[in-house]
Amino acid sequence: MWSAQAHMPTVLAGSQTVIVKGDGAYIVTADGQRLLDAAGGLWYANVGHGREEIAEAAAAQLRTLETWHIFGRYANQPALDLANKIATLAPFEDAKVIFTSGGSDSVDMALKLARRHWQLQGQPEKLTVVSRNDSYHGLHAYGTSVAGLSFNRDGFGPGTLIPETLLIDQWDIEAAERTIRAHGGEKIAALITEPVMGVGGVVPPPAGYFERIKELAKEFGFLIIADEVVTAFGRLGTWTASERFNLEPDMITFAKGITSGYLPLGGVIVAPSVSRQFYEGADAPILHQGLTYSGHATVAAVGLKNLEIIEREGLLAHVRDLEPILAEELEGLRSHPGVKAVRHIGLMGGVDLADDVAGLAVVAELERHGVHLRNLPNNILQISPPFIITENELRLIVGSIRAALDTVL
Ligand code: PLP
Repeated sequence: MWSAQAHMPTVLAGSQTVIVKGDGAYIVTADGQRLLDAAGGLWYANVGHGREEIAEAAAAQLRTLETWHIFGRYANQPALDLANKIATLAPFEDAKVIFTSGGSDSVDMALKLARRHWQLQGQPEKLTVVSRNDSYHGLHAYGTSVAGLSFNRDGFGPGTLIPETLLIDQWDIEAAERTIRAHGGEKIAALITEPVMGVGGVVPPPAGYFERIKELAKEFGFLIIADEVVTAFGRLGTWTASERFNLEPDMITFAKGITSGYLPLGGVIVAPSVSRQFYEGADAPILHQGLTYSGHATVAAVGLKNLEIIEREGLLAHVRDLEPILAEELEGLRSHPGVKAVRHIGLMGGVDLADDVAGLAVVAELERHGVHLRNLPNNILQISPPFIITENELRLIVGSIRAALDTVL
């Protein structure tokens, strides 16, 4: 008996865990079990669950004006305010913001914008988008095409959906450079990169990686798109990962953390290197990529309230304080026989489980310890709790992983 919920790889109806309530760093199941949300949902629950003031902000906006679209000469105030706020948090001056409804939307928007950019620059041969093995960029057509996780690309016919896709080695800069040169760097429109690989297993970049990427971008004249759907708005203790790594991208995609998941919202922060041509001159070109819900007023009001909470409660500084705690705890797991490797940065951690350890069994055992965790595709535990988590709760998550591994082994 399958659930009518149309998520094709869904579990059998009777075995679904239905979550009925959220409260700070905790979620509650339909059976009444209270679980520490060590995954932050799908990396989104940054300010934690059940915030009354976010519900109030949404309700107030819904009562006043649910939304008004931002096509043509129209706008609504929350969308304008949120765009202006995001521009002040961007790692470059004079940022412009294009709103979408989520991360996959934002990736497609940025990649189309990259190609449009080069068409307008009179370099129509610049079509290729470079991405990395094991990367994840959402599941719309363009994002699926550039995704490095092949199982998301498989089954739609041969090759990639968009042929002008070039995959480079995960973090091997020398190999990446060879592939780019062999392909013809001058044909490249953009390189898209997660600053820290998320779904691919929480993999931070090696030192100096982005410096070399920036040199290659200069040499061949391609754009850099930082896919910060997971990292933007504080996951690494800075507003953007681009800021932390001095990545200097031309575009940043964001979603999840902009509303902490309270309502769906995404977008692209665009630097003047790309946006300028769309603003200068009386007959400036138009990007034909308008979405009905871009800048939805109620969603924007929630985004504003979410950013206000992050600032008021000093959550970025809190993430920076927690970073060494998570590092210390995970390093302590490294020698466990059930663990192959650990990685960590900011409030993100990945634990590669040994081949004979079933991640799903570990996750089930963790629930018995009152901790919800996610098992990523390559048998890797994802740790990305809400920013409001305490030091003790963070230590408890890793202690519970150890206990669960001891049981499962
Ligand atoms: N890009 C990255 C780096 C992501 O991690 C995700 C989702 O996890 C996406 C894009 C897609 O976002 P969404 O699921 O909101 O469409």
